[in-house]
Amino acid sequence: MTAGKKTACGAKPVHGSREWAVAEINCCHGCPHGCRYCYARYDMVERRRILSPEEWQQCRTVEEDVARLHPLYPGQVMFPTAHDIIPDNLDVCMATIDNLLAAGNKVLVVSKPHLECIRALCARFGVARDRLLFRFTITARDQGLLGIWEPRAPGYEERKSCLRYAFRQSFATSVSVEPMLDTQDVVAMVHELLPFISHSIWLGKMNKIDQRVVVDSAAMRVAVEMLKKGQEDTHILRIYKELASVPLVRWKDSVKQVVGLMPAEQPGLDI
Ligand code: SF4
Repeated sequence: MTAGKKTACGAKPVHGSREWAVAEINCCHGCPHGCRYCYARYDMVERRRILSPEEWQQCRTVEEDVARLHPLYPGQVMFPTAHDIIPDNLDVCMATIDNLLAAGNKVLVVSKPHLECIRALCARFGVARDRLLFRFTITARDQGLLGIWEPRAPGYEERKSCLRYAFRQSFATSVSVEPMLDTQDVVAMVHELLPFISHSIWLGKMNKIDQRVVVDSAAMRVAVEMLKKGQEDTHILRIYKELASVPLVRWKDSVKQVVGLMPAEQPGLDI
C-alpha cells in the first residue's frame, strides 16, 4: 500500500476529478439519479446543509452559472461535476458547454447518459468535436446492482447505447468505471465496451463509503458489505493483472495506491 504517496516532484497527490481536469464547471444544484455514493449530495446535503434531501432530488438551474463567460482555462475542464445532464436541464447544460467552447476550452463531458441528451449534444456540438470528449459513467452491467446504487439513473443498455452512438458520430469517447460496483464482472464489461471507446476507460474504487453512503435499511447494509468485500486488495490486484496490458485502460488514484503506481503529477493530465 502506498496511501498518501507524494509525486516524483514532491507535490501533493492529484486525485478525484483533478486527475481529469483543471476546472470543474456546473450550472445546476441537485440530481434525481439518486446515487448512493454521490459526493455532491454528501457535500450539499450532509456537509454544508445547503439543500434538504428532498431538494437534492430536484435539479434546479443556477442562472448565473449558465450565463457566466468563462476564460480559457489552462487545460481540460470537466462539466458537470456536481449534477448530471438530464432531459430537464439539457438546454442550460448545452448553453454552459457553448460558453466553455466559445472561450476555446477543451471540455470533458461526464454523465450517466440519457440517450435523448447524447443525441442532442452530438447534433449541437458536431462542429466542435475535436474539443469535446465524452466520458460516460458505466459502473456495472447487473441491473440489480445498478438499481441499488444508482436507482434512478439510466440502465446499462441505455448507457452503452449512448457510448456506441457518440462513437459512431466520430466523437472522442471514454468511460468511467468509478466506482466499480461489480468487481467480479468488471473485466468482461470492459471488453464489451472497448469497441466503442476511442480515448480511455478509467477504473476506480468507491471512496469514503462510511462517510458518504447513507445506510438506511438492512438491504443497504448488505450491499455496502458486499461492495467493500468486492474492492479488497486481492480483487483490485487481480483486475489490474488482467487489464494492465490493455492500452486504453487507466487507473484512478484509489487503484494506483493498491497496485503501487505513482499518482498523477499535475491536475488535468487525463492519462
Ligand atoms: S449522477 Fe452524479 S450527481 Fe447525480 S446522483 Fe449520481 S453521482 Fe450524484
